[in-house]
Amino acid sequence: MVTREDISAELEKLCDSGKLTLDEYQRLKRIFEIGKQAFCKECGKPIPVGSLYCKYCGDQQGVVQTAYCEECGKQIPSGSNRCPYCSDKQGAP
Ligand SMILES: [Zn+2]
Ligand SMILES: [Zn+2]
Repeated sequence: MVTREDISAELEKLCDSGKLTLDEYQRLKRIFEIGKQAFCKECGKPIPVGSLYCKYCGDQQGVVQTAYCEECGKQIPSGSNRCPYCSDKQGAP
């Protein structure tokens, strides 16, 4: 199993070998460290998952609500027909 530490170490290697720029490295590292990251649908800035309002532009995010897969329980966008993780069909009667 690949852990976040593995990914982090791998990113460091890529950065050291010059395959990643420092900017890319820091951005990727941040994404992996946070784990799940949401982005404001108005301004596109990263905001914490589940935020009702963007802290940058104040746009309401509440329209997009997260749901959980009926099968594996992972967080998926509400209204998804299928779970992106286990492909289980959602909303089946
Ligand atoms: Zn915003
Ligand atoms: Zn699932």
